Amino acid sequence: MMLGPPGAGKGTQARQLRRRWDIPHISTGAMLREAVQAGTPLGREVAAIMESGGLINDEVITRVVTERLEQPDTSNGFLLDGFPRTIPQAQALDQMVDGRAPLIVIDIALTEAEVVRRLASRMVCAECGTNATGEGDRCHDCGGPLVPRADDREQVVINRLKVYREQTEPLVRYYGERPTYCRIDGARLPDDVTADIFRAVEEAARR
Ligand SMILES: [Zn+2]
Repeated sequence: MMLGPPGAGKGTQARQLRRRWDIPHISTGAMLREAVQAGTPLGREVAAIMESGGLINDEVITRVVTERLEQPDTSNGFLLDGFPRTIPQAQALDQMVDGRAPLIVIDIALTEAEVVRRLASRMVCAECGTNATGEGDRCHDCGGPLVPRADDREQVVINRLKVYREQTEPLVRYYGERPTYCRIDGARLPDDVTADIFRAVEEAARR
């Protein structure tokens, strides 16, 4: 599973991890959006919660992840993104993976100043919404034009960071002493971060 503030490059690194180990990238945000679009019973439940301005609670999101991890494509491993966000979710995840290979936690660390600097210059594809990575002025997925992200204004960034810090600090305390907790310096070139993550995951898997 991955932790990391907005702007840490989790999307880019997720693509690399998925390719390297041929494992599914399980993004709870994407799964919830798909469920809402597909109009499944869960999707209708989630849509009702969101329309009332509520937060998706631990029980609902834990049920979503539990069902997803029962799919056969997770038998050789998986990459979790966006879950867990709370201690009850982390405890539920420990139960889900009980009896499987140990859970490896990749924490991509970035200073707040670096997050603000990166997000201020972050671009997104105007066609498909994918975050731009690396150089060039075209989307690497669909070739669409890149524009500044609407939600990256400075005050929005500061608020997101505050939420991230409040959510994540308890998780870092929860996982931080485990031999499979890997803190990665995210303030480097994406390829160097990828190399560090691969090395850390391989070492952690042997512990
Ligand atoms: Zn695109």
